[in-house]
Parts: sequence; C-alpha cells; structure tokens
Amino acid sequence: MASRRFFVGGNWKMNGSKDTLGELITTLNTASLNEETEVVCGAPSIYLDYARSNLDPKIGVAAQNCYKVAKGAFTGEISPAMIKDCGVDWVILGHSERRHVFGEDDELIGQKVAHALESDLGVIACIGEKLEEREAGTTEEVVFEQTRVIADNVSDWSKVVLAYEPVWAIGTGKTATPEQAQEVHEKLRAWMRENISEDVADSVRIIYGGSVTGGNCKELAAQADVDGFLVGGASLKPEFIDIINARE
Ligand code: PGA
Repeated sequence: MASRRFFVGGNWKMNGSKDTLGELITTLNTASLNEETEVVCGAPSIYLDYARSNLDPKIGVAAQNCYKVAKGAFTGEISPAMIKDCGVDWVILGHSERRHVFGEDDELIGQKVAHALESDLGVIACIGEKLEEREAGTTEEVVFEQTRVIADNVSDWSKVVLAYEPVWAIGTGKTATPEQAQEVHEKLRAWMRENISEDVADSVRIIYGGSVTGGNCKELAAQADVDGFLVGGASLKPEFIDIINARE
C-alpha cells in the first residue's frame, strides 16, 4: 500500500483581517509543526497574496474557490491563472458552502476542477452528504456521485486531495465519529479502486472535515483511511497546531 502523506488544510472562510491573520501566520511560522504533515491554509481571495508573502514557504496556501476559465468578463470571479500568479498552489473546490449557499452544482464544480488542474493548481475537492441524505440512507449514493463527477474531470490524481465533509458536521460542533468517518473513507477508496485504479485508490489522500478540533483530531487521525483534515473554525485558533500534529 502506498504511504500517504498526512494533509491538513485550514479553511479560513470569510474570516479575519490583515491584523488577525497576521497574528495567526506568526503563530504558524514559529510553531513546531510535524514535518511529515503537508499543511495548506485556505485564505480569502483578497488575502491570498498577503498570506503567501507572509507564511513560511513550507506552509502551502489555497484559494477557497476559482472560476472555470482563465480570464474574461466574469465580474467578481478569480481564475486559476491569477491564483498561480500570486504564488499560490492550491484551490478548494466544491465546498459545501459553495454548493449549498451559492448553488454550485456538480457540473460546474467538475468544470472548475478540470480547469484548475490544467492550470497546474492542486485541488482540494470537497464532497459530503446533507443530514436528510444520511437519514434517508443515501450517503454512499450521494458521495459516490459527487466523486464520479470530480473523477470525470481528473487525469492526474497526484494533484488532488479528496475532502469528505458531511454537511451536518460542518460548523455545527457535531463531528462524525471516527467510525463514521472511517466507514465513508473506506467506501470511497473502494469506489476508487473499482472505478479509477488500484494505484489511485492507494495513493489519493482522503481527508475529513466537519468540526475537527484539537480534542477530537487524534482519534480521527488514527483511522486507517483518514489521511488528514480540512479544518474550518479551529484553523483560526492556535489549536490548529495540535491538529497539524495529530499524528505525532
Ligand atoms: P468546521 O468547517 O471545521 O468549522 O466544521 C470545516 C469546513 O467547512 O471545511
């Protein structure tokens, strides 16, 4: 089995200012971080340049969204080319807030994934079921279909991290149990083995997101198919360092 480098993404969402993010950046730059962990911080687009200029180069930066083409008359959007131009190497796509607050559908997310990868960005591709879907027993159906649309747009999986984020766990304080997370991650990997390839299934990092904290990260990180986290609220606090170091 391929060894998968632990990956911890911070999703700052629409939070912070130069002052508060600057403080957070200083905390991260001076903390002792497990070298084995790949760390990427998702900054608001207006602070991408600021984050990239101030974070230690060993910490990656991600945009939280981008559009599906390089340039043009798309007021308010940013392109992968612009993200790259700020020295930023990653983008988060398909986050549940993009899907459910801003109405992005699978097709658009697929197109964004394709264009971001063509532009040489790494992609943190997010999937996850809503509470009513889990309660209706359709979790697998939902996450497999979201993954299939992403997979249809990926040829090089080495640039993709798949983030399983059950919508009911995001920002709610209701973390999936380690067993619940492991169960879905394991099924996703099996789906990839069957529908993509053995190699991709073994090597793709499948990370968990949804109310991850310093307190629950260790038990989640101990699951065989949990290869890291995408962290919202706790990524703005010093406990983010404990989450980065969850595997120590
Ligand atoms: P949360 O957010 O950690 O605040 O639940 C996770 C995410 O939205 O990526």
